[in-house]
Amino acid sequence: MAIDQEKIRKGVRLILEGLGPNVEERTLAETPDRVADAYVEIFRGMHTEPDELIKVFHEEAYDEMVLVKDISFYSMCEHHLLPFHGKAHVAYIPKEGRITGISKLARVVELHARRLQVQERMTAEIANSLTRMLQPRGVLVVVQAEHLCMTMRGIKKPGSLTVTSVVTGLFRENPATRAEAMMLIDARSYVFVQHGGTELGRRTAAEPAPGGGTT
Ligand SMILES: [Zn+2]
Repeated sequence: MAIDQEKIRKGVRLILEGLGPNVEERTLAETPDRVADAYVEIFRGMHTEPDELIKVFHEEAYDEMVLVKDISFYSMCEHHLLPFHGKAHVAYIPKEGRITGISKLARVVELHARRLQVQERMTAEIANSLTRMLQPRGVLVVVQAEHLCMTMRGIKKPGSLTVTSVVTGLFRENPATRAEAMMLIDARSYVFVQHGGTELGRRTAAEPAPGGGTT
């Protein structure tokens, strides 16, 4: 199934009509087409399977933590159809030498982001993809994002960040391993809340720290 651009064009025309009587103005005439084109790109992950990106290699000698930090992403909040964007940090500890290319981790984040999303689910889906494909000894995913549905609408201060995390396996069982990953991510100040089997942490910081972290 593919994205139905004609339906999106019709919908955007209705939104413009709803906003006022000037939809036929020349400056807006091509807006429905432009939005439909943009949505194909923004939602490119909706009809793809990120797991298939993860090519598994065997590197018997390697069983140390693999961590890719500061993966930029742009996603769309499914509640408001407004963007949320920020950075994802992804770590795993290989089991029996199963690893994947570093660039694949960034692509997995990107494809999960290019969907109608909520941040908590995106965080869990990234962790689930890695778990399914690599069956590692542990996965840690931290996502920090600014939600325009909060900051643009003035509910929260501009720049406030929401942080979510999923921590499994060795990262969960071994505080020293988790602390090492957090130090590398520089997420020492995040507050993580754990909920049963799937740990989701959330913190909305009042102000972003210089360099994009939270204070
Ligand atoms: Zn929203």
